[in-house]
Amino acid sequence: MPSVVRRSNKPINLSLFDLLKAGPGPSSSHTIGPMAAGADFAVRAAALAPEIQSRAEGLRVRLLGSLSATGKGHRTDLAVTGGLMGRTPDSCPPSLLNELAEARPGSCSVSLGGRNIAVGPQIVEYGPVRHKHPFNNTLVIELLDAPYPPPDAQGRPLPEGRAGEVLFSVEYYSTGGGFIQWKGMKRDKKHAPPHPYADMKQFRARCGESSLDLDELLLENESALTGKSPAAIRAELDRILEIMRDTVVRGCAASGVLPGSIGLQRKAAVLHERALSLDPFDRALCRLNAYAYAAAEENAAGGLIVTAPTCGASGVVPAMLMFMEKHLGLDVKARRKGLLAAALIGFLAKNNAGIAGAEVGCQGEIGVASAMAAAMLAYTRGFSVQVVENAAEIAMEHHLGLTCDPVGGYVQIPCIERNAVGAVKAYNAALIACNENPMSHKVSFDEALRAMAEIGRDMNSKYKETSAGGLAVCLVEC
Ligand code: SF4
Repeated sequence: MPSVVRRSNKPINLSLFDLLKAGPGPSSSHTIGPMAAGADFAVRAAALAPEIQSRAEGLRVRLLGSLSATGKGHRTDLAVTGGLMGRTPDSCPPSLLNELAEARPGSCSVSLGGRNIAVGPQIVEYGPVRHKHPFNNTLVIELLDAPYPPPDAQGRPLPEGRAGEVLFSVEYYSTGGGFIQWKGMKRDKKHAPPHPYADMKQFRARCGESSLDLDELLLENESALTGKSPAAIRAELDRILEIMRDTVVRGCAASGVLPGSIGLQRKAAVLHERALSLDPFDRALCRLNAYAYAAAEENAAGGLIVTAPTCGASGVVPAMLMFMEKHLGLDVKARRKGLLAAALIGFLAKNNAGIAGAEVGCQGEIGVASAMAAAMLAYTRGFSVQVVENAAEIAMEHHLGLTCDPVGGYVQIPCIERNAVGAVKAYNAALIACNENPMSHKVSFDEALRAMAEIGRDMNSKYKETSAGGLAVCLVEC
């Protein structure tokens, strides 16, 4: 199975809202991407010629790579079902995946060409973890001319290959952070950004040439790429801030056990409460941990989160935002500016290394999230782009080599705690960067990303969201 770690010299032309996407947890590659794929397939199927639609009787979804290895624990079967039923990640109610999990088998269907076609976990097949498709996380969705799974005379499913003729199929790739591609995809021609950059060095140069601040430059690029006014972009960023805040608030108020066979107890509320009895220094740090636990636990429960840069790492940036609001007194305008600094770091990581655990390990998820949060904190405190870069670099550098080995395939252990540790590390990285001589910093963010890409390329696939090695195996054996 090829490992796809890319470095692109092309100018970054991602939208802020490609990176910061609202959707259901627990994994952007395993839930948001597959839900988007299912929704895309539903739209395509609805546009098929009536003579094809009238023959359709079944749907089948084949998961490959890490989607197959950990798709069950990550609820990929439910996410793709929701997508086929017409839900898109950002229109997904916080409770949808739980409702689908509790639905009676065979009770969900979609209508096509006037007939009802069954959907649900029973139409999902788990294929080989090693394969030859260009992306690790591959899913193939097929429209069949027979019900699937096909019942034999005794009502048992027939073996694979006896499921009827494939009328229409699409091969999708979930490439991390909720992004999807498909076989034969032609990229839309986007408008060129007025301030093109492919790496941090170029970004700093564009800031110097244009005399724009980091946030102003990103807003101008976003406006040119999307055609939206700066006011509309700000409003959308505020909505993202609100969703992140709601996720932390919900998580701090929730109790009980997270879904799945581990039986993991939620901890955010306890940490949040106990912080009150601590001295001010410990209280603030304990609260930062609690905020990260809160968002990460909501993610693990399949609740609504924002990818930053992924679902698994979606607790770090919201935790820092809540910390900035509650403990540093930073208003929404400052937090919005900070979010733009975080987005810059996410863009650079996606463009030059990778942000999916299945491609580069957890260094691309928690490592990048921590770098985003460190940059955000440094920028909102009024520091220069050089200091912002140094803060991100320190956080990134000390996550290099971090593997992805979720126990049982659930985004719980080590993921939830790792969000809290990533948030505290981000705080420390910003603290160091804001208090050192910025010009004495030796490692650039571009160099840290190059190292991350190389380590990701060499990392054994056991440590890339397959739950086939590391903690995922050791904990089971203990
Ligand atoms: S270990 Fe890290 S990369 Fe892997 S699922 Fe958990 S948060 Fe994501």
